[in-house]
Amino acid sequence: MATRNPNPLFGKILIANRGEIALRVQRACRELGIKTVVVHSEADRDAKYVRLADESVCIGPPASSQSYLNIPAIIAAAEVTDAQAIHPGYGFLSENADFAEKVERSGFVFIGPRPDTIRLIGDKISAKAAMAKAGVPCVPGSEGALPEDPKEVVRIARAVGYPVIIKAAGGGGGRGMRVVHTEAALVSAVSLTRAEAAAAFGNPTLYLEKFLPNPRHIEIQVLADSFKNAVYLYERDCSMQRRHQKIIEEAPALGIAARALTRIGERCAEACRKIGYRGAGTFEFLYQEEEFFFIEMNTRIQVEHPVTELITGIDIVQEQIRVAAGQKLRFRQRDIVRKGHAIECRINAEDPYTFVPSPGRITSWHAPGGPGIRVDSHAYHNYFVPPYYDSMIGKVIAYGDTREQAIARMRIALSEMVVEGIKTNIPLHQELLLDEKFLRGGTSIHYLEERLAKRKLAG
Ligand code: ADP
Repeated sequence: MATRNPNPLFGKILIANRGEIALRVQRACRELGIKTVVVHSEADRDAKYVRLADESVCIGPPASSQSYLNIPAIIAAAEVTDAQAIHPGYGFLSENADFAEKVERSGFVFIGPRPDTIRLIGDKISAKAAMAKAGVPCVPGSEGALPEDPKEVVRIARAVGYPVIIKAAGGGGGRGMRVVHTEAALVSAVSLTRAEAAAAFGNPTLYLEKFLPNPRHIEIQVLADSFKNAVYLYERDCSMQRRHQKIIEEAPALGIAARALTRIGERCAEACRKIGYRGAGTFEFLYQEEEFFFIEMNTRIQVEHPVTELITGIDIVQEQIRVAAGQKLRFRQRDIVRKGHAIECRINAEDPYTFVPSPGRITSWHAPGGPGIRVDSHAYHNYFVPPYYDSMIGKVIAYGDTREQAIARMRIALSEMVVEGIKTNIPLHQELLLDEKFLRGGTSIHYLEERLAKRKLAG
């Protein structure tokens, strides 16, 4: 006889991730009265969040390919611990449709969209086509995949107008893209990108878009249940990026008309209903001259979700769990009220000038606090930052009634924060929090790189 599960959601969830997001999901589960299983590599064996979980299972050596990406080991861990659902966090297997499918075939609930949705959205060409069909504005470009015939490619690029950007359908993480400014450079750029895409993603399929010279990165957070109810939790501005990696995110986005945001938010929610989306998701847009252009959708929780949580009061991870358990969304669009302003600084273990990763032992750790400050981090005094994974060791999120107050609180928080033994990017954040253009707001996705280039010249 199956054991009775007194929790209407799940009795036990396995968290297939590490670091701050493993801890974040664990906290959501504990608040909901759900037991947790954390899987970990040998490198993360001693981490405190692993000890805090109800159960933990070592799934392999430090290399992610043998642990956090090891599908059979993760599913076996769920079987031996009798977990009912698997939360994939972000990165690793979170957007892997084959993983989601294997999880469900093995009798567990995947906390995320259905596998076929992940597959549809994971291919950027089919994602764009689906979104265009659902009424989401997209960057103008090739309709579907670029043909092999160079003459056809030239014709398409001419129709779109230069500059154009060639992108790999299977690309991700800012890789597999090439900007082309003139027709003379087009054909060789396409064959180069095709070869790279085949080697890096095992998929040579390319598409082409108009290259927008100076956009902002604005994204819309959505939540949807299995009953075709969908809401948007407004936008985040994530334009402060280095090498396509976001480092500061905030909500709301400055200087965008409320009407335009409502319109795009509604389109995103409607697209979720149309494709039968389930769970939390993010529509990423480039925003330029008062227009939104869809570039891709992420079918998972995002690093920067806390800024939205702070201004809406909605715990996105808990809602992911609720809708995965088959519950209906607990609110309608008009119930979602946002208030104040929130900013997140990603704290990375890296040199703030050269950006070389700086793993190692944290010999001294003091986390900031006070009104409006939230720290999401798995790090602590004497924690060893392993060299094998992403360098992010936590996030500081500041909330205020206004953007100015949120920034002021963030400055104080970072001045209080102590991380010794390793290098962090806190000094870079401190510089940016005093930067005139950042303070004015609305900078483009190129601003940080341009500023860093100037810093290099001055140094
Ligand atoms: P990835 O999945 O690799 O992150 P995206 O499609 O999200 O790829 O693009 C990553 C980044 O590349 C964007 O945030 C933006 O900086 C730049 N980019 C992508 N498409 C365009 C475009 N059409 N015009 C200008 N920049 C672009």
